[in-house]
Formats: sequence, structure tokens, C-alpha cells
Amino acid sequence: MTDQRNKSPYVWGLSSGLKPPDRLPLAEMASQNVFLSGSQYGSKYDLSVVPAHEFIFNSFKDPAVKEIANVAPTGFGKTTIFEVCGSYAVAQDPGDMLILGQNDKLIQDWMESRFLKVLRKSPWTRDFIPTGAQRNDTKKTQIIFKHMSLFTGGANEANTQEKSMRYCFGDEPWKWKHGMIGEFLRRHHNRLNRKMLLQSQGGDEGTEWEEFARNGKWHDGHHLCPECKQFQPVSMKMLKYEKTKDGNGEYDWVKINQSVRLVCPTCETEFEDSDGNRRKWAKCMPVWKGNAHFPDRFTYSWTFLTVWTKTWSEIVKLWITANDSVKNGNYEPLKQFINKEMGQFWEQPKDTPNLDTRHDPYLKSAYNNGEKWENEHARFMSIDVQKQGFWVTIRCWRIGETKSRLLWEGKVDTYQTLFELQSRFGLENRDVFVDGRYGIDEVVRQIYIHCGNAVENHWNILIGQDNSKGYAFDVGTSKRPRKVWKIYSKFQRGVTSRGQQYRTISFSNLRAKDALAGLIEIGDGAFGVPVDASPNYISQMQSESKREMKPGVWKWDKIKSHYHNHMWDTEVMGIVACAIRGVLKIELVDE
Ligand SMILES: [Zn+2]
Repeated sequence: MTDQRNKSPYVWGLSSGLKPPDRLPLAEMASQNVFLSGSQYGSKYDLSVVPAHEFIFNSFKDPAVKEIANVAPTGFGKTTIFEVCGSYAVAQDPGDMLILGQNDKLIQDWMESRFLKVLRKSPWTRDFIPTGAQRNDTKKTQIIFKHMSLFTGGANEANTQEKSMRYCFGDEPWKWKHGMIGEFLRRHHNRLNRKMLLQSQGGDEGTEWEEFARNGKWHDGHHLCPECKQFQPVSMKMLKYEKTKDGNGEYDWVKINQSVRLVCPTCETEFEDSDGNRRKWAKCMPVWKGNAHFPDRFTYSWTFLTVWTKTWSEIVKLWITANDSVKNGNYEPLKQFINKEMGQFWEQPKDTPNLDTRHDPYLKSAYNNGEKWENEHARFMSIDVQKQGFWVTIRCWRIGETKSRLLWEGKVDTYQTLFELQSRFGLENRDVFVDGRYGIDEVVRQIYIHCGNAVENHWNILIGQDNSKGYAFDVGTSKRPRKVWKIYSKFQRGVTSRGQQYRTISFSNLRAKDALAGLIEIGDGAFGVPVDASPNYISQMQSESKREMKPGVWKWDKIKSHYHNHMWDTEVMGIVACAIRGVLKIELVDE
């Protein structure tokens, strides 16, 4: 390879900068020849900062490896790896290069603030930078060297078209539009010496990034115990801590942090959360998990343990918080944790949830006259409106510990019976949630008869929508504005054909159903189902499953079109009721 390269007319044309063939490992060459810029790790490249870099570099230099997926946590130094590998290509093994990031602006900022500086400062590359009459060939979007060209841009069709590349670098492809990795792969035109390097945190299962990584020879990082010298696969079980709470029932993070230590699963030695110990534990080795794979693609999956600057106590705090959110039906923080700290992909809970009647056995008949459940904080009635009659569930909740019991379920024929149920179970109007998608005029007319003319004192009318993110609410202050996404909207006003005013609240079907499935999955009495629940209830609760309609787009749908799902719908409305009334906190915060 080296000989051939030296025969290239471009390389012959260079008076300076010709390098002897490289036999040294890339990490070693980089520590002498690459001067970093704007990196948190000081000026010269230093492998000891994140020792795991070594394996990416080895694969990059290995002619047998043509494609690399590096699934790595935040703080891993993925950008530094691009800078080192890019410098190596320019200095030692040239070929046209395309670097794609999330969008044009991000990649230009990086070129300007970091990569161009690296190329200009490093002894390896500085002599290649076009000067004199050619100096305008250096831009923040591209560099036309004498011996190769380097293009950059956002991952979109405009930047991937028609170009034939030897090197393709991709930054954070978990955020790329579907199809862009495929476009990127086609830029190689099947060159034998092609090299593709994609680096990113994890993402969702079923996305293009996940498929690319999964089809590589998958290596997990195993870490060296400084005591017993055994390499250990990483799991959160290695981190031990006391989950201390203060007098108000809030976590005492100071005490929890002090209790965090890493325990080696093999020799059971305990390591406190110190810089020295984390540096020792950053030593690692990739271990192939034995999967089927494309012959020339390598995948690496690294965890927080590769980044010694990340304290174990901050990891534990994220972990505790994420798991508490699952109890509130919000998977988002746990997904972020898996994607960002564990170097893994997130599998959406997609199966039909399994109802658990065994954990907390009770009879709904014991509540038939509206009896209170011990320590109950709230109860809601949810009504699904049919052409003939209604499906109803009534469920009560304990706030804080997240436990609930279904008290009543079934079919009701008339509004009179609904009113009777409401009063028998001691429910205020604001505790009642009715589906507004069907026959809204009649629903509103009945509500006026039952609740009076004041709209604020009416039942809640809910409208489910195909909306995957939820509804934006501005929280925080004018100085520090913050946006959260709730599963329900603000009030929307409407008028019936009779001229009666009403207000509705929309909700995200997807997110409310995710939250319901999450609660059911927790078990542990979070979503109590009585042992005398009707067969209708049980089968309707298992009538839907979550499916991928097209890549990355999920929807809850009936398993068979003739299945009834009415009480599944009413329980979903019950979740929305909990969110509206603060029983469950289900919201996403913009990053
Ligand atoms: Zn050990």
C-alpha cells in the first residue's frame, strides 16, 4: 500500500512532508505529531486520558477493517479521534475525505474552532496546508490540498451527492435523518481501501445507526480490575451505594455520593470514587460478543468507565433518577442513560403489557360502595363514549410511592348510571374524564345538565391525538426560560351546534400509552388489577401492542382489528388524568 501511494503523482509533487512508512501504532504517532486545539485534554494528544482510543486507532490503521462504528459515551473524546484520524490521513495515507455532522453549522464551527487549528499547528500536517496563491483553498467547509481534498457538511442529500470518497467520517449519526448512513456508504464506490468511521452515542433500536452498529463485529469494553487483574464486563451492579433519604423523604445526595464505590465482581475488592481509582479502572480491552457480522465492519461499545473524569457518583445520581422516572411512566431519562453512559441502544418496550394480579391480590367487589383504599390520595373515573353506552374504569392512587388499584370497570348504558357511579364513588366533577372524540354535542349537553353552566366546574373532556412528543409548556423565569413537554395540552375552547361552550384537553396517545405500559411493567402494585377483574377487562387491556410503522416511528395499535380496546383507552385516559392532576409527573425537558 505504501509503495503504491508513493508512486502517486500527487505525492511525488510534494517537496516536503513525505513521511517514512509508518509502522508505529497510531496512538504513539499521534502523541508526537498531533497538537490538539480547544480540547479539554491539553495540547498534545495523550492516550492515557482515554486509553480506549487505542483500539479505534488500531482499527483505523488496519487495512482489513473498512467500516468502524464507535458507540461511545459523552466525554469519550470522539471529536479528538476524528482529529487524530483525519490528521493521519492527511499526513500518512491520503485520500479524499468527507466529514459529516448533524448540520452545516455544527461542523463548520468544529472546523473553525478545532480541526483547522489542529492541522495548522501539528508538525504532521502543517506543511500540507495550502499557502500563497493557494491559501484560499482552505475554508471552513473544505480544504483542497495538493494531494487530497477534504469536504465537510451536515448529513443531508446535498452534501452526500455524487462525491466519491476514500474516507467517510460521521459524527453523532444517531441524530441523522433515516437513509443518510446508506447514502454515506455509497460515497465509497466500493473502493478497496475505503475507510468509514462513524462515532456516536447509542440511539434507538431499529434505527439506521443501530443497524449499522449491530451488523459490525460487536465488541464490548471490558475493564481491568487493578487488584485481581481480571477484565470485567461493565454493569451498573458494580456500583454500590446507600440510597439515603433526609427527613423530608428527599434523597440526601451528599450522603449517597459519599457511599458510592465500585466493587469488582470477581475479587470483590471495593474501590472508592477517587480520580486515582477511576484512572486505573479506565484500562480496558474490547471483547467480541460473538455476533454474526459483516466481515470488514468493527463495532465498539464503551461505557462511562472509559472516561475517568466522570465521577461514579454522578453516574449513580443519573441512574437513581432515571429509574425513579420509570416508576412515573417516563422512560426518557433511562433511555438517555443507556444511550449516553452505557454505549448501548434503547429498545422500546413494544410488547403487549402483562397484567399482574398476583403481586397485590385484592377484590374490586370490596370497593363496590365507593369504599376508600388505605392511604389513597386521588381517584379518577374515565369514560369511553360509544354509539351505544359507555365503557368505564375507576382507579385510585397513592402519590409518591406510585401504587394504584382499579376499583370499578365495566360497561354502562346511560348517562344516569354514569352520574350514579360518580356519586357512589365520591368523585368530584373534576375527577371525571370523558372521551370527546365521539358525539361531542351530546356529551356537552349532558355535562351542562349534570354539572351546571360554569365551564370550570365541568367534567374534563379529553381528545387523544397522534403526537409523539407532547405539548410545550413554558416554565422557569423570563431570565431563565425553560420548556417542558407534557403529555397533555392546555385547554382548548369549542362551541357545540347548540351554542354551548366547552373546553377540551388534547393528549399524546403515544406518550400516554408508553407511560401506561411502563407502569404496568413495573409491577409491584404500581398498576393494581383485582383478582376479580372481568374477562372483558383483561382481554381489552391486552388488545394493543406497540409497533414500528416505519423506521423510528412507533405507534400503539390493535393487535387484531376486531379486538375491543375500550378499557385500555379508559386506563390511558386515567394516566392523562394523573398527569394533569400531578399524581404522576410525565414530562420531557428540552436539552
Ligand atoms: Zn478484581
